[in-house]
Amino acid sequence: MKTRFAPSPTGNLHIGSVRTALFNYLFAKSNKGKFILRIEDTDRERSKPIYEKDIIDSLKWLGIEWDKGPFNQSERTDIYEKHLKKLLDEKKAYYCFCSSLELEAKRQDQMARGEAPKYDGKCSNLPREDIEKNLSEGKSCVIRLRVPKVKIAFNDLIRGKIEMDSSLIGDFVVAKDLKTPLFHFAVVIDDELMDITHVIRGEDHISNTPKQILLQEALSFKKPSYAHIPLILAPDRSKLSKRHGATSVLEYRTMGYLPEAIINFLAFLGWNPGTEKEIFSLKELEKDFSLDKVQKAGAIFNQQRLDFLNGFYIRQLSVKELAKRCKEYIGDHPDLEGILSLYQSRIKRLDELAQETDFFYKDDISYQKELLRWKEMTDSDLASTLEKLETILTGIPEKNWNLKNIQNILLLEAERFNNRGELLWPFRVAMTGKKHSAGPFEVSAILGREKTLKRVKAARLL
Ligand code: GLU
Repeated sequence: MKTRFAPSPTGNLHIGSVRTALFNYLFAKSNKGKFILRIEDTDRERSKPIYEKDIIDSLKWLGIEWDKGPFNQSERTDIYEKHLKKLLDEKKAYYCFCSSLELEAKRQDQMARGEAPKYDGKCSNLPREDIEKNLSEGKSCVIRLRVPKVKIAFNDLIRGKIEMDSSLIGDFVVAKDLKTPLFHFAVVIDDELMDITHVIRGEDHISNTPKQILLQEALSFKKPSYAHIPLILAPDRSKLSKRHGATSVLEYRTMGYLPEAIINFLAFLGWNPGTEKEIFSLKELEKDFSLDKVQKAGAIFNQQRLDFLNGFYIRQLSVKELAKRCKEYIGDHPDLEGILSLYQSRIKRLDELAQETDFFYKDDISYQKELLRWKEMTDSDLASTLEKLETILTGIPEKNWNLKNIQNILLLEAERFNNRGELLWPFRVAMTGKKHSAGPFEVSAILGREKTLKRVKAARLL
C-alpha cells in the first residue's frame, strides 16, 4: 500500500491539510505501506519556495515522516510531456484553439438555455494541416481530453459508491501546452508512476475524481482506491478560515502547542477509535488507525479540546524536557526548572509562560494597591501586615532560605491572623504583582532572600 500527501506550495501549510497528511501517513503505517510527499507546484505563478519550506518544516515538526520525496512536479515536465504526446498521437486528446472570448460566449448561451456549460467539441476534429499551421503560427491553444460518453463510477472507501455521467464534464483541458500540464494531468501521471494505491484527500476533491478517472482510462493506467475525508468545520459549521483563528501549522507552534497535542487532536477530526480512549501518541495511532472508522460528516474544529490536550501533554513532560521545549518562550534563569515545575500544571500553551513568569526575571515589579489587599483589609491593616511580613522574613537567615523553612515559618505566623489569607495573600502579591500565580513560598524560595525582602519593602512603600 502506498499513499501520498500532495500539497500545493501556494500558501503556508493549513492545519486542515495536515490532517490529510496525517491520515495518509497513518493509513500507510497501519498497513506497513509507504507514504510519499509530492509537491504539486505546477502553478508556477503561485508556487513559492518559502511555502515549500513551510510544508517541510511543518511535517518535520509534527513527526510526520515521508518514506520518499519530496518530489516536485515542476521537475517532471518531461515525463508529463511524453504522456501528453502519446494521448495526442492516439487522438485521445486534441489541440483546441478556441479563444477565451468565444468560449465565454458559448458558455453564456448554454447557461441561458438552461444547459450545464461544457466545451462543444469545436476543435475536436480539426484537420492535421490546420493544427500544424496554427501551432507554427504560435496561435494560442490548450490541449483537451476527448471524453467518451460513459458512466464513471468509483467506490469511495468512506462515502461509498459515487457515480457521474461523463457527458456533464465535456472535453476538459488537461494542459496549456506540452510543457505545461494542468493539475489533473500531473496528479494522474504521478499517482500511476509512483504506484499510489490509495488516494486519501479532502472531500472538496470529490468532483475532481471523475476527471482523473477519465484520464486514467485514456492512459490505460491502474486505478487507485479513493477515500475522501470529511471537511473540517468551525464550531458554527461554516468552513474553517482565518476568521476562526490561526490556520497555519507553524502559527500553532509559535503559540506554544506541542506536536503531540496537534497530532492527537487532528487524528480525531473525522476519525475515532470506536472506544473511550482519547489520548493517542503518533505511535499508537500508527497501529490503531483505520479508514473504516473515518466518518462522512464534517468534523468540528474545537479549540477548547485542543487546549485541553495541549495542557495534558505539557503536564506529561519531564521538567527537563519542558525546559528544552520552551526555550523560545521563556528566558534563561538559574532556576529555570524550578520555575517550570511551578507553572507546568498551570498553563495550556507554552506562550503563556513569558507573561505568567515575568516577575522572576524583573528587578522591580509594579503593584496595584488594590491587589495587595486581602478582602476587606484597610490600608492600615495592609501596612501593618507588610511590616510584620518584613520582620518575619528578615528573621530567616540566608543559610535557612529554602522552601521548607519559609513555608513552615510563614504558615505558623499565619495562624495568628483571623484568616491565613491576611498574611499570605499580600505576601504572594508582593512577590508576583499578580492576582493569579504560583504560591508565595515556592516563589520566594526561587527569588531568594534578597529579592524577596526588596519586594516586601517596595510593597510597603506604596
Ligand atoms: N495538490 C492538491 C491540493 O493541494 C491535492 C491533490 C490531491 O490530493 O489529489 O489540494
